[in-house]
Amino acid sequence: MTSEPIIYEGKAKIMKIIGDIAEMTFKDSLTAFNGKKRSSFDGKGAINAEISYILFKLLEKHGVNTHLLSRKDEKTLVVKKLEMIPLEVVVRNYVAGSLRRRVLLEEKSKLPFPIVELYYKNDELGDPMINSYHARLYGISEDTISEIEDKALRVNEILTKALESVGIILADFKLEFGYYKDGKIILGDEISPDTCRFWDKETMRSLDKDVFRFDLGDVRKAYLEALERIRNVKI
Ligand code: 5GP
Repeated sequence: MTSEPIIYEGKAKIMKIIGDIAEMTFKDSLTAFNGKKRSSFDGKGAINAEISYILFKLLEKHGVNTHLLSRKDEKTLVVKKLEMIPLEVVVRNYVAGSLRRRVLLEEKSKLPFPIVELYYKNDELGDPMINSYHARLYGISEDTISEIEDKALRVNEILTKALESVGIILADFKLEFGYYKDGKIILGDEISPDTCRFWDKETMRSLDKDVFRFDLGDVRKAYLEALERIRNVKI
């Protein structure tokens, strides 16, 4: 007997959960500033699905466990069902975005070491930045936090090197983790121009959602350029 699929629709993806697996379909919509700015373009879902697929495969090859199982169609990845940990884990290598409000360093300057930040995923609170004490209030132990931070830094090492080889600086990115049925913590969600800041190494030009956030040019062109370069990453 198969159970009815459970469907969740978010701003950028639709998750269809069927037993132990889920189909993650990437939408063409683009949102920023908590959904206050909206747009879309044809092919955006397919671009983000392909970039996530390539980067998850690369991470798997380097020993990082991810939820990826396969690519079902151009916009849909088949993934392991996870019980998501309600955290956004941000890793930063350069000064950009909300970090500019916290440090007296020049925009786009390189940090002396990567910074990891935790945000509690909660719409009512507006996803506030938290530390491991706050996380304990939500049942997330210090050991879990330290495991997640180690994994996030490992992901940073692998992706930074791979993207550098195709002329992209990984300025910062956001990850989400969850528990698989065996209790292991594995990497979930997506890795795409929606969730990363990708900069052209030569010009520091954005190839990511900042093009949409701050009206920096043709967003479709920027996402396509990121995809074309990432296709050349050696797996
Ligand atoms: P910032 O805190 O500077 O706004 O974001 C840091 C990095 O994490 C950026 O690459 C940004 O795209 C990503 N990020 C942070 N929060 C979110 C979020 O709620 N949704 C998405 N898609 N990306 C996020």
